[in-house]
Amino acid sequence: MAAQQRYRLFAITLARRTQVSPSLVRFTFCGPQVAQMATYAPDQRIKLFFPEGEGSLEALFNIAKLEEHDWYGAYRALPDARRPAMRTYTIRALRPERSEVDVEFVLHGDNGPASRWAMHARPGDQLAMTAPAANAEGPKLGYEWKPPRGVRRILIIADETALPAAAGILETLDVLPFTPRSKR
Ligand SMILES: Cc1cc2nc3c(=O)[nH]c(=O)nc-3n(C[C@H](O)[C@H](O)[C@H](O)COP(=O)(O)OP(=O)(O)OC[C@H]3O[C@@H](n4cnc5c(N)ncnc54)[C@H](O)[C@@H]3O)c2cc1C
Repeated sequence: MAAQQRYRLFAITLARRTQVSPSLVRFTFCGPQVAQMATYAPDQRIKLFFPEGEGSLEALFNIAKLEEHDWYGAYRALPDARRPAMRTYTIRALRPERSEVDVEFVLHGDNGPASRWAMHARPGDQLAMTAPAANAEGPKLGYEWKPPRGVRRILIIADETALPAAAGILETLDVLPFTPRSKR
């Protein structure tokens, strides 16, 4: 099975935005396809696609239906003028039973398609996302957080854009064979 098949293209709709800090916003996306999404680690990376001109997301979904085993090939096949901007993000939380997925965006200004979208986004806005498919077989992909068994001390260094991953990792520490200082 090609690597791309383990990641598939999902249609997502913005349900709500929550201001986490002055420069960080949590977006909760919904949609029936979200129930088929998977996440394997707190730093699960995904790709988000931002509309570039009229009809660019529709063009992506249409070509992805034809190339269902190769979303990246489908994306590359689009003409430049109709290819949505693609950026890497992290799944902050996934609730497949409610068909909801959270992604946190750093707002860094009107200088890139992702941050620009985040500044102006409203509930009902639609995006496309590639993420692991829950029904895919084979190795789990798209994350780096694989702490060695028995680790006792962890130092996490993150810039703003890695805070969603770092926060997710911190939330898992009390289930590792590791005792956070606050619980000793
Ligand atoms: C594995 C991985 C996971 C990531 N997860 C997240 C995540 O969960 N949340 C998140 O917000 N970001 C995350 N990022 C970072 C995100 O992909 C980049 O910040 C991306 O460049 C934003 O795209 P843009 O369209 O807003 O800006 P771009 O078009 O890429 O860049 C436009 C301009 O903005 C500048 N710029 C880009 N990002 C920043 C920034 N953060 N601060 C200041 N200036 C910036 C660029 O240098 C450039 O000058 C992740 C990156 C990786 C590799």
